[in-house]
Amino acid sequence: MTQPGLSRVCLAVISRTMHKTILVLSLVLTIACTTATAVFSQQYDLVIEGGRVMDPESGLDATRNIGITKGKIARISADRLAGKRVLSANNLVVAPGFIDLHQHAQDNDSGRVKAFDGVTSGLEMEIGVPDVAAFLKQKDGHSLINYGTTASHAAARAAAFGAALPEGELLAPSGPSTNQPATDEQLQKIKDRLRHELDAGALGIGMGIQYTPGATRLEVIQTFRLAAERSVPVFTHVRSFGRLEPGSSIEAVSEVIGAAAISGASLQIVHINSSCLHEGLECLSMVAGARARGIDVTTEAYPYTAGMTYINSALFNPGWKEKLDIDYSSLQLPDTGERLTKERFDELHNSPKPQTVLLFANTQEMVDAVIPNSLVMIASDGEKGHPRNAGTYSRILAYYVREKGSITLMDAIRKMSLMPAQRLEKATPAARLKGRLQEGADADIVVFDSQTIADHSTYQAPMEPSTGMKFVIVDGTVLIEQGKLVPNTFPGKPLLGPGSVRPQ
Ligand SMILES: [Zn+2]
Repeated sequence: MTQPGLSRVCLAVISRTMHKTILVLSLVLTIACTTATAVFSQQYDLVIEGGRVMDPESGLDATRNIGITKGKIARISADRLAGKRVLSANNLVVAPGFIDLHQHAQDNDSGRVKAFDGVTSGLEMEIGVPDVAAFLKQKDGHSLINYGTTASHAAARAAAFGAALPEGELLAPSGPSTNQPATDEQLQKIKDRLRHELDAGALGIGMGIQYTPGATRLEVIQTFRLAAERSVPVFTHVRSFGRLEPGSSIEAVSEVIGAAAISGASLQIVHINSSCLHEGLECLSMVAGARARGIDVTTEAYPYTAGMTYINSALFNPGWKEKLDIDYSSLQLPDTGERLTKERFDELHNSPKPQTVLLFANTQEMVDAVIPNSLVMIASDGEKGHPRNAGTYSRILAYYVREKGSITLMDAIRKMSLMPAQRLEKATPAARLKGRLQEGADADIVVFDSQTIADHSTYQAPMEPSTGMKFVIVDGTVLIEQGKLVPNTFPGKPLLGPGSVRPQ
């Protein structure tokens, strides 16, 4: 873009100068005016200068400057760009902000550690919030990072059974609303509630089938049919884990791939690492086989060996020890580090109080085999009490890319930005502007040092922030600057599904 007015003024000045034949001065003026024209031709709100710009969709991996205006990437160029603010990204990687499709904790303490981990969008997709409209209202103007949710099958089921969820919780404790089959009338209520939630802006339907084992295969298929009717994906924690039949991981994955095939709904199988455990690679070949036959199924994993969930949930219905092939001592309370006994387990499992528990049920070898697989996108399953809330994305960059070398930097960025955006974009066109560093895309951007980025959260200190993110930009606003969180800044915007009745 040029400014013709400014150029005309310059030419006039040059012309008068030429009459006086002061050639040297005219040359100086010409240079000065050319520079002025370039500088003032376009001034961006923000420029990220001189970074290694990596875009997983186009394959761009080169030193570039990025101009941002009104929350969008307006220009990517090898030429210098003028900005009201200029951030130097010398020797740093510039990548699309990471999109976490599996972020339960939506409070700002968690938003803060997510930002330090490079996450610019943290979406609650596995289960979904109980009330989409209330969630969106509460987050509006108060969120550090972008947000969104699925419609919750578990909450719709609890409501249909007349069992309200505990305040602030996503799941009902194990009981009739989780363990009993729904009547036809209850099933109708579940579907009506899900439609209502999709109308309110949900991005899909979340089904934690293991938390509602009373849901019959038919209830699952009917829920998938509703998703297909509304052209939104289903995110599911599958019905079971382990090797024992009936109820193996293989059966559970078969059930949802079957429901996707029958209904035509798109499917994301969440945390394939912890749902499939020792069968992780077999589950991935099932996903690959289904995809090869045209079924739209995708999957995700987080880079830790322990899972975490609620101890009074239906996941711990009788049989869990046999399925997981672990004992009470493999369960640990996150707050105190206490390992459980049978007596302590019984006490907590039968309590109405929601208490999270860590389950050490997977091996490092299996996690290391699953994470680099090209079908696997990264999603944290973030929740307070587990280091995955704060460390997932930096751990991928530090451990798998830098230390082990089992994933290239570009592939890691693809797994953490482009792939999750692509999962959403069939139903939600706004997601096509995410997960990319391209002109016209949303300016959700991370700038980090690939040599030093590191996770620090542990099972003992799960909220320890990652380090190495120099700048994190959400919707064109700088949220992390020179490695520090900018105070009182809430640039997070909602990502809304196709049924949204809210103005976009
Ligand atoms: Zn889960």
